[in-house]
Amino acid sequence: MFALAPRSAPPLARTYSSARTHIPVIRSLGQLRRWRAEARSRGLEVGLIPTMGALHDGHLNLVRASVNRHPLTVMSLFVNPTQFAPHEDLGAYPRTFEGDMDKLRGLMRQGPAAVIHGLGISEYDRRLPRPNPGPPAGESPLVVFAPTVETMYPLRGELQNLSEHRGAKVHVQGWGDVMEGASRPQFFTGVATVCTKLFNAVEPDHAYFGQKDIQQALLLKILQTDLLSAHPLPENLHILPTTRDKDTGLALSSRNAYLSPAELGVAPVLQRALQAARSAFDNCASGATMLEVATRVVAQEQERLRVAGSEVVLKPDYFEVFDRNSFAPVRGTPGPGDKLVVSGAVWVGGTRLIDNLLLGWDAETLDVSNDV
Ligand code: AMP
Repeated sequence: MFALAPRSAPPLARTYSSARTHIPVIRSLGQLRRWRAEARSRGLEVGLIPTMGALHDGHLNLVRASVNRHPLTVMSLFVNPTQFAPHEDLGAYPRTFEGDMDKLRGLMRQGPAAVIHGLGISEYDRRLPRPNPGPPAGESPLVVFAPTVETMYPLRGELQNLSEHRGAKVHVQGWGDVMEGASRPQFFTGVATVCTKLFNAVEPDHAYFGQKDIQQALLLKILQTDLLSAHPLPENLHILPTTRDKDTGLALSSRNAYLSPAELGVAPVLQRALQAARSAFDNCASGATMLEVATRVVAQEQERLRVAGSEVVLKPDYFEVFDRNSFAPVRGTPGPGDKLVVSGAVWVGGTRLIDNLLLGWDAETLDVSNDV
């Protein structure tokens, strides 16, 4: 595995052809900080994509977008213990480092033209005023940051039961304890804490998150706004559309790997329920009606499974319609110009799946710093 050279020999000098297949892996904070200082000294903009690995096309689309827009991109691969409660799936969460690196190399092997141009992720890409020239010749546009738990949590301590944790925690009260945060009480504290650490470590100019986890992305924008943080500025924290299975519409997720073939067949019901809610929104229905419509779609699927004698157990957790800035639930009829989200979580067997659709706005059009 590639180890970054010491301070005296800048690590980034490589030919483009090797840069396409050779993605540097940074393990320590010291290496990362030297790499970042060098990028800054040369005026190279850096994009960051935080992930827990087990990569799929949704993650790769975030890489495409960042590599498309910035000369240098850091993808972090770190399974963050603090966002898993003690009873959750930290131990079982897929850890596929070598496979992840193969996928990233495969993406970069498509060549700079394929990666850097023409893979329009969103309208935003097509509107880019000038194409990113790419990294200086010989450098990989992509670097992986794969820290250890000790690097990310130097005080160690209790990392799963956060009420017992001694050390810094980041909690966005009022935003982090509703919806996903109500179902998973320490989840957003863990997410906000680890992302703050990653933002502090990488000091990215831009960061990329998926609409798939919309509450997370919006909450992080609010966090950056409230803490007056500049790495990234809230408006440079980008939310890109959810990547879906093109046949079923199922949102890609690392947790889909837990699903049996029969469960995989049932899982797209969540997307169908949200689509039904969106149709109701398009027909000027109230938030309450949208929730009824979504809940009914899941109930009908439950009934269909029961009648068919299926072994798949489907259990809705919640549906919600909420304002994208305040996270206030919407039960009345939305007004013109309201920017809302309809989101939901369902258990398919032992796997909890989440998904959402945006109502009245699109991914990549948000600037929370101006309208929170
Ligand atoms: P994860 O490691 O899967 O928790 O997520 C890392 C990043 O990838 C987060 O910003 C997610 O929202 C994003 N992501 C995960 N799945 C998708 C998807 N299907 N489409 C777009 N982004 C995604």
